[in-house]
Amino acid sequence: MMNAQEITQKHKLLECIQCGMCTGSCPVAKKGNLNIRRYMREAATFGKLTIHPQNELWSCTTCSTCGVRCPKGLNPYEFLIDVRSMAVEEGQIAPTIRDALESIFKNGNPWGRVRNKRSEWNRELNLKHISQGAETLFYVGCTSAYDPRVQSVSKSLAKCFEKAGLNFGILGDEENCCGSEVYGMGEKGLFDFLVEENMKAFNKYGVKQVVTSCPHGYHAFKNRYNQSSFEPQHHTQTLAKLIETGRLTFSKEVNKKVIYHDPCFLGKQNGIYDEPRKVIESVPGAKLVEFDRSRSRSVCCEGGGGRMWVDIPGERLAENRVKEAAESGAEILAVACPYCLLTFEDAVKTTGLEGKIQIMDIAELLAQAI
Ligand code: SF4
Ligand code: SF4
Repeated sequence: MMNAQEITQKHKLLECIQCGMCTGSCPVAKKGNLNIRRYMREAATFGKLTIHPQNELWSCTTCSTCGVRCPKGLNPYEFLIDVRSMAVEEGQIAPTIRDALESIFKNGNPWGRVRNKRSEWNRELNLKHISQGAETLFYVGCTSAYDPRVQSVSKSLAKCFEKAGLNFGILGDEENCCGSEVYGMGEKGLFDFLVEENMKAFNKYGVKQVVTSCPHGYHAFKNRYNQSSFEPQHHTQTLAKLIETGRLTFSKEVNKKVIYHDPCFLGKQNGIYDEPRKVIESVPGAKLVEFDRSRSRSVCCEGGGGRMWVDIPGERLAENRVKEAAESGAEILAVACPYCLLTFEDAVKTTGLEGKIQIMDIAELLAQAI
């Protein structure tokens, strides 16, 4: 376990000028007690590394806003992930987090579902396995494989890929959790195990290109796996390219006003802002509108960093976001992440906006127009 001095060095905490931009821009600081600046100061100045109350430590969504705003180029949330690692090592974790981590270790997914049901969503489609001469691996991801609502995104995406003639395959029940949220929850030992398992499967089938509909999986593959044997893509990048090169064409119109929400792990974490917009704008009839706070100023849905398994009391950021979307006059709130899809759909119900705004993944929107 690292001590305060090692953590201070690793995260360059002595370079912090105490400007408060991190805490000031943190979306969960506004509703809870998380004060990331104070946390870091305790470690750097007083050599103190405390595991703060659960509601504070686990409230961070790892959205990375603090890192984007820090004038000294520090990444406060990476420091917090290391504090979480200490909490995990000491067993100071919420039972729901422990259950999710245990399920990932045993079943390869955080949802408590058995491994051999991972490809049930594919029963009717019967998409081919990566071993059957496919060029691109469609890495489905846990939520898109098991959650009945998000399975529709996987099916829509498969429909788009088929229409475009993309030679793709899936891993089926051989697919494992990508580990993105495991890393964010601080369980780095389990994360390393998942990297090894996934790389074994990728290498077994000579995978060179991976496309996923989940920005969290994309982020893990691109920035945390430390590998160069395959190229990860988010589905909005793949779809934008298929449209641009004329491989994916449209036959129907979707005459709707569409507002797009930038997911933290796609936008702020990886700078992918244009492709999702290009895809929406290419849908015949669709009119793209923007949130006041979009691109790097986009507000977190509170689904990342393990927050799908920890409920923090108070008003949900997703509720504000769907209200803003409805006020803009948009009929569809388009997303590009399974967590955004689930948190926003929930928020539509709790804010009574059902029938006024519809949440759709970009792949679902596209599937309606081809
Ligand atoms: S990553 Fe996001 S939620 Fe976490 S401390 Fe930074 S700004 Fe706050
Ligand atoms: S934004 Fe950066 S420099 Fe400013 S208080 Fe936070 S960590 Fe320190």
